[in-house]
Amino acid sequence: MRRISIFGATGSVGEQTVDLILRAGGPAAYRTVAVTGGRNVARLAEIARALKAEIAVCGDAACLGALRAALSGSGIAVAAGPAALDEAAARPADWVMSAIVGAAGLVPGLTALGQGATLALANKESLVTAGPLLMAAEAAHGGRVLPVDSEHSAIFQALTGERIETVERIILTASGGALRDWPLERLAQATVADALAHPNWAMGQRITIDSASMFNKALEVIETREFFGVAPEQIEVIIHPESIIHSMVGFRDGAVMAHLGAPDMRHPIGFALNWPERAALPVARLDLAALAQLTFRAPDPARYPALRLAGEVMRLRGLAGAAFNAAKEIALDEFLAGRIGFAEMAGVVEDTLAALSAAGGLEKPAFGLEDVLAMDHLARIRAGEAAQARRRKGR
Ligand code: NAD
Ligand code: MG
Repeated sequence: MRRISIFGATGSVGEQTVDLILRAGGPAAYRTVAVTGGRNVARLAEIARALKAEIAVCGDAACLGALRAALSGSGIAVAAGPAALDEAAARPADWVMSAIVGAAGLVPGLTALGQGATLALANKESLVTAGPLLMAAEAAHGGRVLPVDSEHSAIFQALTGERIETVERIILTASGGALRDWPLERLAQATVADALAHPNWAMGQRITIDSASMFNKALEVIETREFFGVAPEQIEVIIHPESIIHSMVGFRDGAVMAHLGAPDMRHPIGFALNWPERAALPVARLDLAALAQLTFRAPDPARYPALRLAGEVMRLRGLAGAAFNAAKEIALDEFLAGRIGFAEMAGVVEDTLAALSAAGGLEKPAFGLEDVLAMDHLARIRAGEAAQARRRKGR
């Protein structure tokens, strides 16, 4: 029986993973090693019982007592805190879902790869902050990284049987998010609720707002560069409001392979779960006649400064990805807390990159996990300062 672990089991991707596992038979089909969550102890305990997990871990150390109480008598081990997450990732498993949101997903994912597991990677932040480390861990321990982000799963599928040398370009599709049709001059006033009204995908709060700002696509451009090893100039972004084409690969003979499907994360999750098999999945089938048309438009650079910043990050490489992601997380926290406006998030990230670049810390050709974590920490401090400076200017 295949041994699996689910990191971030209580989140949007995590819950859909649990759903697929339960539909496949749950404990009768998979041996669940570890399930983890952040603070939602009640739901984590339910999932742990349903899957008969060996251990349940919450990321927040303060939740240990509540988790122990919720699972008392179940025979399921409990633990809490970042170190416990990492220890859970070291427990041997064949397939590990990496669906924690943010930089917190990096260390458990690397540890899972270190024990040779297949890592189903939803946590794009891992590739953005430490792409070369992930790829090296995959190569060194015989594991495998499988993309779960819908765009990257689409690209991965379009590349099946192809040689990467024959790829001319990769075209990432973007819905444009909740605010794509707002007049540019109104973006500054967008509230959290406005940015959360995503037209096509139901996702976690953070990625939904990142979709509206295109920071999500910026992360995905960098993710594409790191995962598929193509040059930055080969990566294009096109707005495709219907979210039916999940991405495309253009080859040197002019052919473009597109991956189509209903916008449902259970497709890429299920693909990664069953790979290299293609199993039947409970996702809606496309009715092309009902869709009638698919539309596309070029992203307006003035509306989406995040895409320009992604280009800058790819040019710098080194620790720029770690700095970019951390600054973006802080800018998002500041927006969620109502301390900066929607349109100021990009400014905070740009100011942070400028400050760190001036200090000479970003362009580092060879780096290790410690360097990434140190840059993550430093960039959070600089981004907090950048946000504060903007607030002062605004008053
Ligand atoms: P979510 O916010 O719904 O869930 C995140 C999970 O991580 C939860 O289980 C939460 O409790 C846990 N968590 C949060 N902070 C943590 C911490 N510090 N330590 C430990 N656990 C913590 O997020 P999501 O939308 O499911 O996204 C998860 C990842 O997948 C992200 O990297 C996101 O970019 C990526 N992704 C999501 C979707 C989607 O449809 N939701 C699509 C593509 C990629
Ligand atoms: Mg995506």
